[in-house]
Parts: sequence; C-alpha cells; structure tokens
Amino acid sequence: MNHERYQRQMLIPEIGADGQARLSKGRVLVAGCGALGCTIADLLARAGVGHLRIVDRDLVELTNLQRQVLFTESDVGAPKAFAAARRLEAVNSDIEIEPHTKDINPSTVRKLAADCDLIVDGLDNFETRYLLNDMAISCGIPYIYGGAVGSEGLSFTVLGDGAADGSPCLRCLFPEPPEPGTTATCDTAGVLGPLISMVGAHEALQAMKLILGKRDEVDRTLMRIDVWNNSIHRMDASRPVPDCPCCAKRDFQWLSGNRSSSMTVLCGQDAVQVLPAMETSVDIEDLSRRLAPYGQFDVHDGIIRGRLHEERGGSGNPVELTVFEDLRALVGGVDSAERARAIYDRYIGS
Ligand SMILES: [Zn+2]
Repeated sequence: MNHERYQRQMLIPEIGADGQARLSKGRVLVAGCGALGCTIADLLARAGVGHLRIVDRDLVELTNLQRQVLFTESDVGAPKAFAAARRLEAVNSDIEIEPHTKDINPSTVRKLAADCDLIVDGLDNFETRYLLNDMAISCGIPYIYGGAVGSEGLSFTVLGDGAADGSPCLRCLFPEPPEPGTTATCDTAGVLGPLISMVGAHEALQAMKLILGKRDEVDRTLMRIDVWNNSIHRMDASRPVPDCPCCAKRDFQWLSGNRSSSMTVLCGQDAVQVLPAMETSVDIEDLSRRLAPYGQFDVHDGIIRGRLHEERGGSGNPVELTVFEDLRALVGGVDSAERARAIYDRYIGS
C-alpha cells in the first residue's frame, strides 16, 4: 500500500497507520449508486477502504449530473455501477472496485452482501431499505441508512450486532414503509446537490468509524437535516423496540420475499422494470442475436438496448427495451406494468 496518499488522513490521531491498515481491509457494499451512493463511494475510495462492491440497476441520465458526482456527460446511457467503477479506479488504483448492474431483491441480496463488513444505503426506494435492514440484522452486520429529498435528509446507523446496548433497527424507528406514491421523491420534489454531500458524508464517516472498530463513536441518533432552513435535529434512538418484528422477533419479512413486489416503476424513467422469475444469467451476445429480427439493438457494457419494430406503447411510440445479463429488463414507453410483462414474456422469455 502506498501510504503517502493517505498521509493527511493518517495524521488524525483516531486513524494513524493502524487505522489506515484497517481501512485497507474494509469491505463495503454500496447499495445503490445514485446521488448518495456516488458521494459515499467517492469518499470511501479516497479514504482507502480496500474493497467496494457497487450495486446499481440503473443507467446514467442527464438529470443525474446535477448531484451524482462520479458521472460526466460522456457517461449518459451507461450503467451506473460501471461508470462509477471507471471513475473510482482512476481516483484510487490501490483498492478493488467490484461493479454489479443488478437489482437488489430477496433472490440477489445474500450474494451481494456476502463477505461485506457493512452495508451503506444509497437507494431511492423503501422496499429495498427494509430488505437491507432484514439482511443486516439477520447476519449481524451494520447497515447505514440514508435518504434525501428536496432540502431534507435523514441518516441513521443500524449497528446490527445484537449487543446489550444494541441500537434500534430501521423497523424500530419506522415500523412500516410508506405506501407507494404517498411520499415525495426526487422526481416530484427535486433534490439539492449540497444536501446529498452532507447526508452522504455523514454516512461515509459512520462507515469509516465502523471499519476502524470505533463502534462507540458512531452517531447513535437519527439525524434529520434541512439544509434550506438551516436546521439539524438529532433524535434520540438509543433503545430498540421490544417487540420489533425484525430485530426482536427476527421475522425477516422482506428477506423471505413475503413483502417484495416483483415489478417496480422506476424513479426517473418512463419505464417499468421486469424481473426474471428466478436468479439467472445469460450470454448477452446470444440474446442480442435472438432479438435482432424483432428490432434495432446494440450491445454495450454487457447490456442490450434498443427498440422493437412491431410493438407500440401507450402513446403509439415504439417500445424501448433494455436487457441486463441477469435477464432483468426495463420496458420503456408502455402504459402499464401488465403490458410490460407481456412484452417481456414474448421476447425475452418467462
Ligand atoms: Zn428493530
């Protein structure tokens, strides 16, 4: 390891050479590489955290560039996980970056979280957060929750270690996720770039403390920040809820798949995501040859993108199809989830 690059960080008494060595052995799952994920991954890579597994299912869009600091104009259209990995490898070639263009769901989460010391949240949806909370509690690793919409952000660290002075889990604080469509999203309410930096930095710092073994110095409050109104509140969150279904009863409803939906309308795109019936992977070149008679398709970065000749979506426009190696697909230009599923079954296979 080249220590010179970390010299300013090693001057911090809480880190030093021993701490730097610990950071270099850290393994972190960055779940979601949108705005928060970009900020977190950037800080952890620069700090020398040895292994970053970056998972995101989406492609870079022009509207992301206002706040997703790892991406440039030339990345628009590329899978976020790979675009982020290219940038992070240029930032720090000492560490390992492992990109995955995948959906985090009950059938993929175990493999994605395997061998990781902790999970940091860079997600845009509650369903996956409850899944990661289940995952963290079930295998006893920390999960650092974060969220940001408009000018308001939240962050909380679930220690997940079941210690006597244990911290609450996400379900202790928020027993049920909000009903879909009832909360503001970045699409409807917008989001401020500086807010992302502040919430992401808070999450990254808690991750560093945990990798350094400084559990007692982790922020144990629920931090709520409003950057426009200049307010930061720290809410006491020191006690788990005694009958919490997740951390007390260990009933992992999201991990078992009982609470997950199989189809999601994506944040930021006029597209429906369709998942394969089981975890799988295909030869993407083979699949693109199979699709060739039905439309105009290109293969790039291990994904197929294009449009179908014959199918028409809700407004009479061609149906756009993006297919990933795990047989997940984004079906664009359709007017319903059912129509998306039908097109998926017809061209990709059920
Ligand atoms: Zn709990």
